[in-house]
Amino acid sequence: MVAFMSLLRGRPLWQWWLLCGAVVGAVYLALLSDSPQSWALYDVFGFASAAAVVAGVRRNRPRRPGLWYWFAAALAMWAVGDVTFDLQYFAWHWLTFPAPADVPYLLAYPMFAIGAFRMIKGRISGRDRAGLVDAAIVSTSLGLLSWSFLMRPITQDDSLGVLARLVSLAYPAGDLLLLIMLVRLITTPGARTASYRLLIAATGAQLVSDIGYAVVNMFTVYTDGILDAGWLAMYLLWGAAALHPSMRALSEVAPDQAERFTRGRLSLLAVASLLAPVVLAVQGLTDPAGIDWVAIVLSSVTLFLLVLIRMAGLISRVQDQAAQLRALAHNDALTGVPNRRAWDLELSREMAKALRSGEPVAVALLDLDHFKRFNDTLGHPAGDRLLKEVSAAWRDQLREGDLLARYGGEEFGVLLAGQSQETALAVLERMRAVTPHGQTFSAGVAVWDRAEIPEQLVARADEALYRSKHGGRDRVTAAAGPAAVSGPGELPPLREESRSSHPAPR
Ligand code: GH3
Ligand code: MG
Ligand code: MG
Repeated sequence: MVAFMSLLRGRPLWQWWLLCGAVVGAVYLALLSDSPQSWALYDVFGFASAAAVVAGVRRNRPRRPGLWYWFAAALAMWAVGDVTFDLQYFAWHWLTFPAPADVPYLLAYPMFAIGAFRMIKGRISGRDRAGLVDAAIVSTSLGLLSWSFLMRPITQDDSLGVLARLVSLAYPAGDLLLLIMLVRLITTPGARTASYRLLIAATGAQLVSDIGYAVVNMFTVYTDGILDAGWLAMYLLWGAAALHPSMRALSEVAPDQAERFTRGRLSLLAVASLLAPVVLAVQGLTDPAGIDWVAIVLSSVTLFLLVLIRMAGLISRVQDQAAQLRALAHNDALTGVPNRRAWDLELSREMAKALRSGEPVAVALLDLDHFKRFNDTLGHPAGDRLLKEVSAAWRDQLREGDLLARYGGEEFGVLLAGQSQETALAVLERMRAVTPHGQTFSAGVAVWDRAEIPEQLVARADEALYRSKHGGRDRVTAAAGPAAVSGPGELPPLREESRSSHPAPR
């Protein structure tokens, strides 16, 4: 005893509860006698568990206390069932089924489910379609299992009266409800805290004993025995789950909502979707004449449809992300116009098209004049705004199939497919006219000679841009022919120079 007390010294309340409860439970299981005293111990334990949940809510102050009160009420209802069962056994000497104790027991299931439903709702913000479909897949196959092995034998048992049959069916139905909630809780994103694990373990313990009870009840009437360990564990773990401080995070939305399709999830879905053929195989091997084809067909069709819905969701997500990725990879973050990568791709594509169609391809390179000065005087953010405004204004001057791209810094490229040098120069004049805030740019225009590679074409436009800068800025220069560019040393002669209305000061 002294050792036990020293073990508990300074420990948090939930550990006190777990250790004391485990000792009481062990004492009960060691006694396991048909004595009112030991059964009373069991009953007190049930009510203590409900009280522990209430105490946990008071202490930990979760944001949604209501759902925990549903759990506490469900546990108390279950304990009322225990007391009624004892009264039946010791006071009234009823060993019948169904009996009054079944009423509180069966009422506890929906109460547990309401609490769990509210908790799940708290854990997901907005929609969690994938999680819902996964839970539906697992629930469908569990439903088939429960029907085939627990419920169907009851419906076929002619020794049972109507009421006994209905009550017998209600237990596996209640368990299925709990199981569905449990699966849904596991498939939601959200905190996996100690309290979460205790709660899952509590429901798991309850389900194991419940299912054992349903199986035992097919053959006899259960009074007490090893199954009590599961229900005691349920009481114990529920109390601990509510007393643990991490219970507060249980009904909160997870900060990281990104759904990851884990290996565990895949295995769960694989096992769940294979259960229908397994049930068919079991029935075929054991009782070929009694194959429950209706249930197997219904559940298989439902499973296939659910898997398809899940697949469609995943595919559309991948497609959306691919589109987002493409937009990110191909667009400039600041101005939103296509970037250098998109420019390179588009230029090669247009040149290949033009080779077949025989149409010309014109490109222009633009560079803002004295942009460094603009930045230095008005600040970098104002420079950024200017870049956005000029790209928007310039884009408005282009046709549908033309491309304006940010080549880098304050340099832009214009790709005019199917346009001659004259039209290209006219377009650039229009762009000059709409450049905002009195800013100017210099540009070089080159028309593809149908032999160059894209880099050579752009190099010629760049050469012409360089000439515009040297000629005094605020102007557009048409590039020299490709042969002249490749000539060593000397700069090629200008073919044409557009008139500039107000050359920038040097
Ligand atoms: P020039 O007329 O000869 O082209 O002179 P310039 O000042 O425009 O040319 P320079 O290449 O010397 O300077 C370009 C400036 O562009 C320098 C850099 O700080 C600025 N710049 C490049 N990218 C950005 C950007 O994204 N935002 C801002 N605000 N400025 C940028
Ligand atoms: Mg510049
Ligand atoms: Mg520059």
